[in-house]
Amino acid sequence: EEIIISGIIPSLAFYYSLETFTEERSTCNNCEPYQVGRETAVASKELSPWEVPCSPDKLFKNQTKIFQLPGTDKVAPCVACNGKGLTGCEECLRTGKNPCKNCKSTGKIGFVKTCWRCKGDRVVSCKMCVGQGLVSCTTCRGKCKLCYFKQLKVDYRNRLKDKVIVKDAFPVHLIHKAQGEILYDHSAPLVPPITDCFQEAVNFTSVSFVQETQTAWPNSVILQQRQHLLAIPVTEVHYKWKEHTSRLWVFGKNKRMYFEDDPQACWICDFL
Ligand SMILES: [Zn+2]
Ligand SMILES: [Zn+2]
Ligand SMILES: [Zn+2]
Repeated sequence: EEIIISGIIPSLAFYYSLETFTEERSTCNNCEPYQVGRETAVASKELSPWEVPCSPDKLFKNQTKIFQLPGTDKVAPCVACNGKGLTGCEECLRTGKNPCKNCKSTGKIGFVKTCWRCKGDRVVSCKMCVGQGLVSCTTCRGKCKLCYFKQLKVDYRNRLKDKVIVKDAFPVHLIHKAQGEILYDHSAPLVPPITDCFQEAVNFTSVSFVQETQTAWPNSVILQQRQHLLAIPVTEVHYKWKEHTSRLWVFGKNKRMYFEDDPQACWICDFL
């Protein structure tokens, strides 16, 4: 059987992406166990979050950096143990004693024999606190003091907005498998929208994306933007085979094929 091709309609699909790389800074209170010498650091002046020098390791990559805000150190008694360095043992609930497992807290083995382990007391000394009922405070690690400080969190985020601009019948997801021609690829602190593309829908998308990014993250500062426009050739082919008419598409520089009748089929085309 012969395939009869009744129409070939070439067009272009577009993939537009706008990445916006932002920085946000925030502070919260934090503390850590006291270390000898921390008082000497207190002398410096408190810096505001944006005065701390910090830069991203790589543009357009998410990352978070944590600092102690200089000049906010304060050494004070530990709140968890009231500066005593000890807190109640959770194993024995401060009693220093636990039920004897050897005699199931009866004090006896069998009917008459006194339990050798607790000697009839029904309880044994707590191993966790050596019978003291108190353990070293985990918050200050027994140092009694904590160093309180403001923690600075610097958040770098890459925010992607993208869109495939394609004729109605062609499935959008296939565009990501296609090779295309790069029409724009440029980066600047704030990119101007694309306005001179011959496909008006690209200009419209670019203008609205760029506008949105200017107010989308009020707590963040925009460090860099990058926009990218890819054009992918898409050819719509109308054909007749075994008395049946249908459509197929050949798309991308790598010439992949998509059949309307058989969406799962994936062919590499070599006749166009
Ligand atoms: Zn016992
Ligand atoms: Zn204990
Ligand atoms: Zn403590």
